[in-house]
Amino acid sequence: MWRYYPELLERPVPRYTSYPTAVEFSDLVGAADMVEALETVEAETPLSAYVHIPYCQSICWYCGCNTGAANRMHRLAAYQESLESEIGRVGSLLQGRGKVRHIAFGGGSPNAIAPVDFVRLVDRLVLALNCESADMSVEIDPRIFSDNWAMALASCGVTRVSLGVQSFSEGIQQAIGRIQPRHMIEACMASVRRFGIENINFDLMYGLPGQSLADLEDTLRQAICLGPSRIALFGYAHLPDLVPRQRRIDATALPGPELRFEMAARGHELLSAAGYQPIGFDHFALESDGLAKANAKGKLYRNFQGFTDDDSPVLLGFGASAISSFPHIMIQNEKNPGRYRACIADGMLASARGVKRSPDDQHRSAIIERILCQREARDIPEEIVATARTALGPLEALGLIEWDKRDLRLNRNALPYARVVASAFDAYRHPDSSQFSNAI
Ligand code: SF4
Repeated sequence: MWRYYPELLERPVPRYTSYPTAVEFSDLVGAADMVEALETVEAETPLSAYVHIPYCQSICWYCGCNTGAANRMHRLAAYQESLESEIGRVGSLLQGRGKVRHIAFGGGSPNAIAPVDFVRLVDRLVLALNCESADMSVEIDPRIFSDNWAMALASCGVTRVSLGVQSFSEGIQQAIGRIQPRHMIEACMASVRRFGIENINFDLMYGLPGQSLADLEDTLRQAICLGPSRIALFGYAHLPDLVPRQRRIDATALPGPELRFEMAARGHELLSAAGYQPIGFDHFALESDGLAKANAKGKLYRNFQGFTDDDSPVLLGFGASAISSFPHIMIQNEKNPGRYRACIADGMLASARGVKRSPDDQHRSAIIERILCQREARDIPEEIVATARTALGPLEALGLIEWDKRDLRLNRNALPYARVVASAFDAYRHPDSSQFSNAI
């Protein structure tokens, strides 16, 4: 179905979970900008909140997240205290303005903290922000899940959990430093379902060391059989210079670009045939899932967590490395948990870096989002069309895209090249793009 054009995939490109991407962040943006940005929030402004827990019980070798080992209880307790202070501080700057519609807990592993501490965090959010009818999702490490956790999630009103699965193959689990037998996933699913949480996401990966097409197919079949409502199938990005823990992965065992392409295509084929609707280029959802419904209505968006049905214009990020986003600015907290705690202990916000979005950035951001979410962008300004059309000439010649004056459409077989198409609208494209991953 998809044709492999290696020359189009040669250059790494960003995932575009934001535009400009985090590579453009600098310390010219800081806490004063965050205070000013919070002042722009009005009484009815829809808000999203993201809470980052940068700890895991054990660290997986492939992981590119900002996380560390949760091996010292006092560190976790101090971090929790800082998070609560930060939430309170942002709440007092907002003074009840804005309505939080979504709250996501991610990491790291939010269940690296104790269930009772999670409940305290949710209480803090509810007391500090206006989040009466917010829906809540939580990333879970199935290896350290318990019924107590399921009970805590249900009692807080959590409606969705995301399970890190990656691969069901034992050999691949050993090669990526994450041993997780299938019965752990089944137990975790049974537990959350027992407490009424039916929306379950799986994160799976292709392009892992030693992984064959047959391994991936087996993992996909097992995943389909367990019936999560949503599956994200990501290509493993091997960037050991940026992520030192990935040096433990045997780079010589990684599948080459053509096999990676084949894996992405096979994943798309198998999941679609099993009734999962393709969402963007790496998400799949059952028809009954909110993301599939949003996609069908043309209401799919992209934020730091990937494809989403959340169109809130303002995202508040809490915790080390969390990013807050406003239409005109993006601001990231101090990445290092120790320095993050020190900022909060000094009575400040932890905003450390970011980027202001010019009107041109906002325009390009909207074009990139439409390309990735809807495979089309309309009414592109003339001056942007001129440069993009030249850059996209090879894709147009191959029939992957079509132009109609200022409207651009990606054909079905252009899906694996969607990030490449988006990059033609990126005014910051770097000749040295080693900090990004392959488009597939
Ligand atoms: S559990 Fe998740 S966040 Fe933690 S190291 Fe493994 S992949 Fe990364």
